Parts: sequence; structure tokens; C-alpha cells
Amino acid sequence: MNADRVLEDLRELARLTGGPDGARRVCWTDEWTKAREFLRSRLGELPVDMTVDAAGNLWAAMEGESDGFVIVGSHVDSVPAGGWLDGALGVFTAVEALRTQAEHGTPPVGLRLVDWADEEGARFGRSLFGSSSCAGTLDPDEVRELRDRDGERLEDVLARYDVELDRAHESGAGLRGARAYLEIHIEQGPVLEASGEPAAAVLGTFGVERHLAVFTGETAHAGATPMGMRRDTFMAASQAALAIREVGFAHDGGVCTVGGATSEPGVVTAVAGRTEMLLDQRHLDPDTLAAMLAGAREACERAAADHGCEVELKHLWSIPPIPFDDRLIRLARESVEAAGGKDTAIPSGPLHDAAEMARLIPTVMIFSSSSPPVSHTKEEDTPEADLRVAIEAYGRTVSGMLERAAAGELPPRE
Ligand SMILES: [Zn+2]
Repeated sequence: MNADRVLEDLRELARLTGGPDGARRVCWTDEWTKAREFLRSRLGELPVDMTVDAAGNLWAAMEGESDGFVIVGSHVDSVPAGGWLDGALGVFTAVEALRTQAEHGTPPVGLRLVDWADEEGARFGRSLFGSSSCAGTLDPDEVRELRDRDGERLEDVLARYDVELDRAHESGAGLRGARAYLEIHIEQGPVLEASGEPAAAVLGTFGVERHLAVFTGETAHAGATPMGMRRDTFMAASQAALAIREVGFAHDGGVCTVGGATSEPGVVTAVAGRTEMLLDQRHLDPDTLAAMLAGAREACERAAADHGCEVELKHLWSIPPIPFDDRLIRLARESVEAAGGKDTAIPSGPLHDAAEMARLIPTVMIFSSSSPPVSHTKEEDTPEADLRVAIEAYGRTVSGMLERAAAGELPPRE
């Protein structure tokens, strides 16, 4: 792998579709089309067949000596005013993997690059459109009526890009023959930076539980109601939030976030009679995640009781943890170490297209560090030295996957 060529491509993409205000490759816009044109121009230099599938995903297929193929990819779309590496690193490192293989002749099995459509969901609020269509987990009726800020419907906008919503699942036919999936991405968090590691293998994506805790008490006059006679929902929610923080600390590897709370009537002269509190919990282990949720429920109930209030936990959204393939995690860990990093693996807090693939085929990811440890902002960055380690580790993982596939360890999907 030649990391220089990856960095050159990434800088050129940033020049074409970014700038001082950050990346602007929002999916289903002209800037996204421009990013894709640049990707096509790079792929056009390689011995590949390019196609766009029924969900708008761009594929570039390179023939191998035996049947089936390993998939490498990520997404070129970004959030508005996003960073230069989120998604783009995965796509252009995948381009380099194809380039390297082409320079060495024919790979032992096929190699396919995919640029997933609309990973970010920045325009319509639904992430992972392309990969979830491909994996068969997208329900068209759930997204059909989604509208962007200008009131345009998702279904109509997709049609302009030749994507028929009700046929998007046909994208899944492209997985016939797929043997494994690999994606490199920036971590988007502080874990690797804090441990001084340039890159790591990824264990899988966190399961998520999202709830709205609704506390009901009694609205009362702030002057006329003695302290001991209140049913104050803001106090109950506050006590619960602090206890939920302890639930997070008590479950290693888990995170609990109270993202906000709104109280009614929300005026300075009244005790809050109703408070709604947002709760997000994540863990890689399903049983631990369930225990964390039980802990949060208990914390809410105790706090409500202490303040003479009632509480109800309303379910907003959840997704189970999606673990990656053990054999491939081992391979990725060894590759990171051989490339100059340490033999480590960490879970992913954010979801990725790889999670959709992991439902169907052996999958793994590699993270590079993020420093500063932020993403979805133009400040997003990674030291060049860390990117080089991650890119090298990726190249080694691709080679290892191709060898194992050729040896029959990763059979093609029917
Ligand atoms: Zn991303």
C-alpha cells in the first residue's frame, strides 16, 4: 500500500468538495455527485467494472483467480460542514487496495470496492440507507415520507438519482459471492488518542437503547409551596440523571448519556410539574446493555418516589450490539501490530455500514485515531503518521483476507 497516494486523493477530494468551512458532500446533492465523479475518475485508471446498484451504491469489481470476492469500502458522503476523513478515508484506502492488487497481477479471489449511498442520513435523517437496503433491513415505508428541510420527499429525491425506493432492496443481489467485508474509518472519539495508539481493530458496534423518561408531579407556586410539600419533577429527573451516570461507571465499557431534559411549565416562578428526560445507553454486550437499562429504570423509579412523582420510560429506538468476526478481528489486530501499532481492539460507539454487512458476511473494521478526538465537524483530523499505520494495517488485512478466502476459509455467500 502506498499511503502517499491515499493522502493525495483525500486532499484532492477535500479541495474539490471541502474547504475552510468543511466537507459538503451531503448525499443526494450536486456536491456528492462531484465527489463520486472524482472517485470514478480514480477507479477509471484501474481494471474494474463500475456499476451503480438499485440503492445507489457504487461498486467497482476486480476479477480474481477464483470465484467470489472480498468487499472493501465506506462512504464518500458527509454531513454538512463535515470533516475530510469521515468515510472518505475508507473509500480512498479501498481504492489504494485495488490499485496495489492490480499492480501485482490478479488477486487470488475477486476484490470489490463499494461506496455506500447516504451513510450519514444528513438530508433526511435516516443513516445507512445504501448498506441497510443491501442488507435487507431497510423498510421503505418507514422512510418514504421523510422530508428534507425544504419539504422535499425522500422518495422523490431518490428518483432523481435513478433510485426507486421500493426496489432498493434489490441491491442485496450484489452480495451473492461475497466472502468478507473490510472497512477503515477514523475512530471519531478519544480512546486511541488517550492511549497513544495510532490504530486498532474494531470488535463490533455498540447496541443502543434510547428512551424518554417522563416524570409527572405537580406544578406549584414557587413562593407559596414549602420545600417539603413539593412534587418537583425537575429534582426527580436531576437525581435520576446523576444516578444513571453511576450506572454508566458501574458497567465497564458502557456509556449512559442524558442528552437533555425539558420541564413544564418552565418558568422561574413555578415548581416543574412535568419533566421529559432523554436517555441513550450503549454497550457491546447484549446482557450488559439490558442490565444498564434495568439500572436506569430503577434509578428513575427511586428518584420519582423520593420526590413524590411518577415516571414512565418510553421506548424511542434500539438496535442490538453487532459483533464483528472473531477470525478477522484477530487478523486485523495482527496487521495493526505489524504496521507499527499495538495489538488492540476497541468497540465502536457510532454505527457504520460495516454493521449492516456484519449481519450477513464475516466483517471487520480498522480504526485510525482521531486527534482532535471529534468528528462531524471541520476540526476533525488524524496525525499523518497514524493514518499511515492504519492504511498499512488495512493493506495487510486485505492481503490476509484474500489469502484466507483463496484457502477456502471464507466461503462465498450463496
Ligand atoms: Zn462515517
